[in-house]
Amino acid sequence: MVTIRLTNSKTRRKEDFRPIEPSNVRMYVCGPTVYDRAHLGNARPVVVFDTLYRLLRHVYGQGHVTYVRNFTDVDDKINAEALRRQKAGSPGTLEDLIHQRTEETIAWYHADMDALGALRPSHEPRATEYIGQMIAMTQGLIDTGHAYAVEGHVLFRVRSYSDYGKLSGRSVDDMIAGARVEVAPFKEDPMDFVLWKPSSGEEPGWESPWGKGRPGWHIECSAMAHELLGESFDIHGGGLDLQFPHHENEIAQSVGACGGEFVRTWMHNGFLNIDDTKMSKSLGNFFTIADVLKKFDGESVRLFMLRTHYRSPFNFSDTLLEEARSALKRLYTALDAAGPVPDLAAIDWAEPRAAAFKAAMDDDFNTPGALAVLFDLVGDVNRGQTADAALLKALAGTLGLLQAQPKAYLQGGSSVDENFVQSRIDARTAAKQARNFAAADGIRAELAALGIELKDRPQGTTWVRA
Ligand SMILES: [Zn+2]
Repeated sequence: MVTIRLTNSKTRRKEDFRPIEPSNVRMYVCGPTVYDRAHLGNARPVVVFDTLYRLLRHVYGQGHVTYVRNFTDVDDKINAEALRRQKAGSPGTLEDLIHQRTEETIAWYHADMDALGALRPSHEPRATEYIGQMIAMTQGLIDTGHAYAVEGHVLFRVRSYSDYGKLSGRSVDDMIAGARVEVAPFKEDPMDFVLWKPSSGEEPGWESPWGKGRPGWHIECSAMAHELLGESFDIHGGGLDLQFPHHENEIAQSVGACGGEFVRTWMHNGFLNIDDTKMSKSLGNFFTIADVLKKFDGESVRLFMLRTHYRSPFNFSDTLLEEARSALKRLYTALDAAGPVPDLAAIDWAEPRAAAFKAAMDDDFNTPGALAVLFDLVGDVNRGQTADAALLKALAGTLGLLQAQPKAYLQGGSSVDENFVQSRIDARTAAKQARNFAAADGIRAELAALGIELKDRPQGTTWVRA
């Protein structure tokens, strides 16, 4: 088997990827703060790491990859929106209104990411469900001298961790000179960051050894990753904008609390630009995913994102997106002309075009290279080989593309997103394996409501339209 090679941000080198346990490859990706509609910048890591998740499942087996992506549901902006609603006369307590806001935001997020063909991760923990673990980790850091409590706050003592700054390649002194650090009179050192902070009357808070308060953002990821993936795991992903300080702080906390190696491979996707400039509300070029999905189908957006290598800056423009849509149409048109295309039971990776596709994917997850192989294959499909059409569909499927009925796609999309159905079937299988039968039954009922009937067979679950 060819080894996957990935660029590790920690070593700044392309390395052979060797999981700690090949029977349980573990990946954590920082998820969104759920205060509003997800924007295009949120979509990129979702599509990138979803595609990596699919690749890992291919290589190590569907049941052997655990993917965790969190929801940050403790945040001042969520709180501000709930307060605004309360003042505008919405019924319910502030806690109810906070809950309402996070629920609706998570539902939007799921709808957007399903439209982009992203599978649901194995676990989507919410920070508010792991407060106990955050308090325990914070207390552990105090006990070992990595943190100190002062005036209702708990702060991480950055100078207690000598490798601080290694991931982003900065020294603590450079950081102090260049960073916008919050100066507070109770800090021992301006670089020290918050693990716990006090909550005033209107703010959400939990009882803790340091009084009523709430966790800092960084400790949330460390605590949830530790609970769901253990002290050491294989891949931690996120946008390049999170490398410092968020990921640097996660490392300091997790290594401080557990010792050992927190993460083996760090992966960062590049920045997003709109028409070659940074996306920002003040520049008036700020788009939500829902805005884009009004004009383009999710699969075209997905193909578009995969045309850029994940580490490169990603440039978004309507013109480029229209090009991606025509390219996708070209693929579906070829499949449609090929007539009924059988689903391959397995891809023969020794076949030269499959081998070229795999070589691109194994080499730092080079999706533009893999897509180029697909477009070469279209020429062969157009010469009328059904076997080539089947190979095209199967290879594209590993990227989460080309799984709709060609006719339905070309006629404007089918009413049911097949990627979504598959992602829910996968989630149900995982729930059954975890003996969480209530969750499994819930997913069956959810799909039944969409007119999808599941059929459980020894070789797996299939579905039909009821
Ligand atoms: Zn994080």
